[in-house]
Parts: sequence; structure tokens; C-alpha cells
Amino acid sequence: MEIYDVLIIGGGPAGVSAAIYARRKLLNIAIISKDIGGQVLLAGYIENFPGYENRTGSGLADIFERQLNEFGVKVLTDQVVKIEKKGDLFKVICEEVELQAKAVIATGGSTHKRLQVPGEDEFFGHGVSCCATCDAPIARNKIAVVVGGGNAAFQSVELLSRFATKVILIHRRDNFRADGILIERIKKLPNVELMPNTMIKEIKGTNKVENVILSNSLTGEECVLQCQKVFVEVGREIRLDYLKGLVKTNELGQVTVDKNQRTSCEGIFAAGDITDLIYGQAIIAAGDGAVAALAAYDFLAQKGLLSDVYR
Ligand SMILES: Cc1cc2nc3c(=O)[nH]c(=O)nc-3n(C[C@H](O)[C@H](O)[C@H](O)COP(=O)(O)OP(=O)(O)OC[C@H]3O[C@@H](n4cnc5c(N)ncnc54)[C@H](O)[C@@H]3O)c2cc1C
Repeated sequence: MEIYDVLIIGGGPAGVSAAIYARRKLLNIAIISKDIGGQVLLAGYIENFPGYENRTGSGLADIFERQLNEFGVKVLTDQVVKIEKKGDLFKVICEEVELQAKAVIATGGSTHKRLQVPGEDEFFGHGVSCCATCDAPIARNKIAVVVGGGNAAFQSVELLSRFATKVILIHRRDNFRADGILIERIKKLPNVELMPNTMIKEIKGTNKVENVILSNSLTGEECVLQCQKVFVEVGREIRLDYLKGLVKTNELGQVTVDKNQRTSCEGIFAAGDITDLIYGQAIIAAGDGAVAALAAYDFLAQKGLLSDVYR
């Protein structure tokens, strides 16, 4: 069985960047992923990736694919289900094939949790967003609703208050999980209103968001709130089953890494939204992917595990 220098799990910005850096070291690598682009494919517009002017998420994913081709990166369209460590080697078990590698870079990303209410999918990208850092400018001079009660929701409110005329935070409970100091800061903002014990039942409009139907979580009483933008900030899910028992994670289920993207398991590196980074952004995932590839190369070199040059 072929032994890869590095197997990269995931085809988002972190995985693609890791692959480019690893190939420029002439390593024998492959990306395992069912898509190239990851969450970028879901983004209507990406306006904050330096050097990228086309701006659509799918356009950026097309460029990723072209670059992988250019660097001769093998892409295996598959899904990793398990990784086992056997001495100096990793067995990477996918749905279709089993592979072996001397190092692994995990970049499986994350998915934003959704509200699962009518109108959410219909208006996603047309007024509904799950990332204020990505989309805050669309709320300029609009009324924006943020859903959630944690730090991400409150930080989104703070950012949006700089663009929107009014920001309303909706949370289904009356106790917020966000840090007290952050909550106090937000409460002082003149264009912010907090609505605890409230849930969104439906997002409505014709071609774009026009209002949301709210329901009081204690009384069930319903009302209509006029707004043009809805930001869903109710957390993320990290896909990690295949790494279970191998690497340490934090209380949010994110892989803990050091500044060289090394995990607690020697030979496994991780990058991007799967890790304990603070800001989930494409450029940050790409940067971390580059670090992971360079660190993986150093690891192989130091251990005397580099194979012959792979052109
Ligand atoms: C709607 C939306 C809009 C956004 N807008 C912006 C923006 O404007 N600017 C910005 O900087 N960021 C934006 N982001 C965030 C950005 O897309 C992410 O931070 C970035 O894509 C994270 O990159 P990643 O490579 O870590 O993970 P992901 O992009 O999540 O990629 C993970 C990859 O791993 C694969 N994978 C997962 N599990 C397995 C497995 N078991 N086996 C094999 N492959 C697997 C997936 O298929 C995918 O290819 C947006 C995100 C969303 C959802």
C-alpha cells in the first residue's frame, strides 16, 4: 500500500492551503474531501480575502480547484471515518478506501447551527446570515436581528450596532451565556435592544427579509417584528468523530493546537475552523493550513521520515 507523507482531511481554505504548501516542499500528499471549497461554497460573497476580487464564494472555490491542479495535488473524493495510529504510521480509513500516511493534517471545518424555522433556508444569503464578521456591512442603515445568547451573539450585536440603525438580540432564555462584562457593554449601546425569552418562529418577506414572527417562550404569545437582516449566532458544530480518542479538544469540542498547529498526538496537525481558533474566517484558516503544512514537513524531516522527492 502506498504510504503518503501527509494526508490532508478537508478541502476548505485550510486544507487547500496546506496542500499547496506541502506540494511546494515536494511531499507525496493527497486531500481527502467530498468537495473543494468547504464553507466558502456556502458564502454568497467573500469580500475580505486579500487578492481575491471576483467576490463570490463559488468563484473562490473554483480558484482553489485550479491551484490544486496546478500543483499536482491528488484529490480523493471520499470521507474519512476513522484514523488509527500504528507506530510511526497513521491508517486513514475512509468510506471507500484505506490509506496510510506518516503525518495527517485535519481540516474538517465546522458547520454553523441553524434555527430550523420556515424562511431561514429561503432567505439564506438574502438577508439571513450566520456570520456577522463576514456580512456586517449588509446591515448598513437597516434593522438587524441577532439570535443567540453567547459571546458570539453579543460580539455580533456590538459589530452590527456600528452599521445598522437598530439591532435587536433575541434569545430563548432570560439568562445569557455571554461574559457579564460584554453584556454590560452591549446594554449601554443606544441602538441595541435585548429581547430575552423570545424565539423566532418564522422569517418572512417577498424577495428579501421583511419581518420575523416572534413567540414568547414563556407565554407563547406571538408578534411581528419588522427587520431586514437576521444573523443566526447559535453556535457551531465541529465534525470530529474520526479523531476521537486521538487528540485533545477544549470544552467547545474544538481541537487544541499549539502555535505550529500541532495537536496532542505526534504527527497529527490541525488547522482552520476545526481548531480552538477565535475567529472563523477563510483567510485565517488558510494561514493556519500553511503553518500546519510547514510544521508537518519539519516533523517528517526531524524524524528522518521524508521520502524521496515526489514531483
Ligand atoms: C455562509 C458563510 C459565509 C461566510 N463568509 C465568509 C466571508 O465572507 N469571509 C470569510 O473570511 N469567511 C467566511 N465564512 C467562514 C469561512 O468560510 C470559514 O471560516 C472557512 O471556510 C473555514 O475553513 P476550513 O478549511 O477550516 O473549514 P471548511 O471550510 O469548513 O472546510 C472543511 C472541509 O472538510 C471537509 N470534511 C469535513 N469532514 C470530513 C471528513 N470526515 N472527511 C473528509 N473531508 C471532510 C468538508 O467537506 C470541507 O471540504 C463564511 C462561512 C459561511 C458558512
